Amino acid sequence: MPLSANDPSKKSWLEISKDHDFSIQNLPFGIFSTPEKTKRVGVALGDYIIDLAELSKAGYLDVQADVLNQDVLNPFIKLGKQTTRAVRNQISDLFSTDSVLKSDTEAQKNILVDRLSAKMHMPLRVGDYTDFYSSKDHATNVGTMFRDPENALLPNWKHLPVAYHGRASSIIVSGQDIHRPKGQQKPNDGPPVFGPTKLLDFELEMAFITYDGKPLGQSISTSEAEEHIFGMCLFNDWSARDIQKWEYVPLGPFLAKNFASSISPWIVTLDALEPFRVKGETQEPEVLDYLKFKGDKNIEINLEVFIQPENQQENLVCSSNYKHMYWNMNQQLAHHTVSGCNINAGDMMASGTISGPTPESYGSMLELSWRGTKPLRLSDGSERKFILDHDTVIMRGWSEKDGVRVGFGEVKTKVLPAI
Ligand code: MN
Repeated sequence: MPLSANDPSKKSWLEISKDHDFSIQNLPFGIFSTPEKTKRVGVALGDYIIDLAELSKAGYLDVQADVLNQDVLNPFIKLGKQTTRAVRNQISDLFSTDSVLKSDTEAQKNILVDRLSAKMHMPLRVGDYTDFYSSKDHATNVGTMFRDPENALLPNWKHLPVAYHGRASSIIVSGQDIHRPKGQQKPNDGPPVFGPTKLLDFELEMAFITYDGKPLGQSISTSEAEEHIFGMCLFNDWSARDIQKWEYVPLGPFLAKNFASSISPWIVTLDALEPFRVKGETQEPEVLDYLKFKGDKNIEINLEVFIQPENQQENLVCSSNYKHMYWNMNQQLAHHTVSGCNINAGDMMASGTISGPTPESYGSMLELSWRGTKPLRLSDGSERKFILDHDTVIMRGWSEKDGVRVGFGEVKTKVLPAI
């Protein structure tokens, strides 16, 4: 099925500014509510949300309203790629110049929602969540700081996409505050102590969301992977570095990562990101056959992180790009399932911290402040080695090419004191 919704010449009859994240070529899916409307599936277009359940009831959509009148996207994603792609194409046609809907002003009243008047919700019931470690610059920086600059990458790193199974229950949507987590820390010169983390950090990541996979025991190849990937969102993998350092041996992070991860509310489809594909770094040494792939599998997505102290301005602290990933999504999913592990609609797989090659592109405070040795100075004169109470961390992402912009909006989380 062609990706007609990606046609760069398409224009909407709704007024949308040229630099808007939610262009007619984007059409991301999310869950919203208003004082009048219960939680349901929406599509963002400019400053509007399209109420898909109402669009279906008015006879404009080939999907039953009950799949759209849901508090999560899982039932919609379960319909599979052919259907979700057809729905996006259909919405694109309806909101482009000269559609029937353009003159149906009565139907528009129920279908169009002012985006600012709506509340966004956690878009998915995440069944399983996996966090990769796929940025070479990030893994190299961490290895240099904590082990040995000469052998920064562990022996397995260039042979397989390293990951751990994370905690799904504490994945939250943008706008929800978190409390500083507590746990064990081990001072260099004494026994372990218990208390709030002193080294709270963000990790700039993106996550992909899957369709249903195959039955347990079967695997998904790199060439099949994209048939099982619905879309992507911004992902802030909150981390407590002091807790992590003490607990992670030998089984990996536990409490340092399980207290919260924040996501942006709009899921941008992999289809919408198609025009922004680029070639990734050449993988050397050559990978095993099941990790080989054909075509351009990296994606150019500009990423920014801001720290906003309470009642102060936003400070840009990181500019990175998703194209820096060493391992791509196809390889991650192929590796994840090569053991026969099954995946389900609504599972989430995060990239790992996305650092680029230059210091301003490092995707965590650990790297930006180089373990606290190089504090960042903010516009209010204060310094940050790590994230303080009452700070808000904001991440934004967007792709842009030939006058078409496909953006993710933002993920924004405020840190409150420990309780
Ligand atoms: Mn992470």
